[in-house]
Amino acid sequence: MKISKKGFHSTSVHGVGERDPLGSVTTPIYQTSTFSFESAEHGAECFAGESDGFIYTRIGNPTIDEFEATIAALENGYNGIAVSSGMAAVNTVFLTYLGSGDHIVCHNTLYGPSRGVLEKTYVKLGIESTFVDTAKINNVANAIQPNTKLIFLETPANPTISISDIEAISKIASKNNIPVCVDNTFCSPYLQNPLDLGADIVLHSLTKFINGHADIVGGIVIPKTKEDYDKLNYTMINFGFNMDPHQAFLVRRGVKTLGIRIDRAQENALKIAEYLDSHPKVEWVKYPGLKSHPQYELGKKQMKGSGSIISFGLKGGLNAGRTLMNHVKFIILAVSLGGIESLIQHPASMTHSKLSKEAKVSGGISDELVRLSIGIEEPEDIITDLEKALEKV
Ligand SMILES: *Cc1c(COP(=O)(O)O)cnc(C)c1O
Repeated sequence: MKISKKGFHSTSVHGVGERDPLGSVTTPIYQTSTFSFESAEHGAECFAGESDGFIYTRIGNPTIDEFEATIAALENGYNGIAVSSGMAAVNTVFLTYLGSGDHIVCHNTLYGPSRGVLEKTYVKLGIESTFVDTAKINNVANAIQPNTKLIFLETPANPTISISDIEAISKIASKNNIPVCVDNTFCSPYLQNPLDLGADIVLHSLTKFINGHADIVGGIVIPKTKEDYDKLNYTMINFGFNMDPHQAFLVRRGVKTLGIRIDRAQENALKIAEYLDSHPKVEWVKYPGLKSHPQYELGKKQMKGSGSIISFGLKGGLNAGRTLMNHVKFIILAVSLGGIESLIQHPASMTHSKLSKEAKVSGGISDELVRLSIGIEEPEDIITDLEKALEKV
């Protein structure tokens, strides 16, 4: 019996696949590289796409399929394409839509490697990129060229928490027949559904909120149409970006609690953002849930919550930030985000350190910026830890 799509939490738990015929409540792990055919004719039918039997795990696998269908249902997309990492998801999209002589328009603050790979590798393939602050709509319209083949956004952007208007940008893009892809990692499908706002493709680093337990790396691409799905799936299969069945099993387990983890983490994050905002040693705080956020109203309109990533700067700049990071004991000093544990890091010397000075300046990644990913612990414990570390600054 196929399970019908229900509300967010129900679909996260039950998915939209078939119940296991042997009664397993969790999706079984089909840890196999290849699948047997019933006959030579059946094998030929599978390859011809006339039968939906499985062939080979790089092409498709039941554990991965169930996971992909679940995330696609949560994002209101056609289907999902699960891959080995968030960067594999980014590259699946770039390799599908861009070729020699093409041009891409991106937000000027992207996840470090997403920008880095365009500036270092795709440029060698004859692909030109323009990075603009897409929070200002006119910048997007002005950056479009006759050879623009993709608009790539991150909103909220990593690590500046800048918010771009997905609906308005998608309207401009569709007038020009350009697909829009949104890296929705910071929100997960629980807080934002870019396809409903007019985007064509959404992608996630599963490593972050969707898995949420800091124990796997993974990615997924979800297009709105079958036509885009077929093109993206071809890239995934033939570049060998596929996910592993055991990885799919672990992240599928993470999905079941996605909404309740985010509810708790963002409730914590607002308390911590307010605490930092009122602290005399803090120069500025960027969090979508604070009225001081420059796109507070837009965030309210397009996101269903404020998330749990906070950026802030201390009055003493980088040195003060270093002192703080060296004195937290409960919050973990580590990159990544979106997990159940609170993490702190310094983008300019860590996640975004490989970017050129110009890229950092234009992207707003200042030396004093410290990024916090708030987990689901007791908010008092997080604040006490920050309080003690701030005393050393
Ligand atoms: C982490 C991250 C990625 C890359 O994902 P990996 O799973 O580390 O490859 C891409 N985009 C954003 C916004 C991220 O935070």
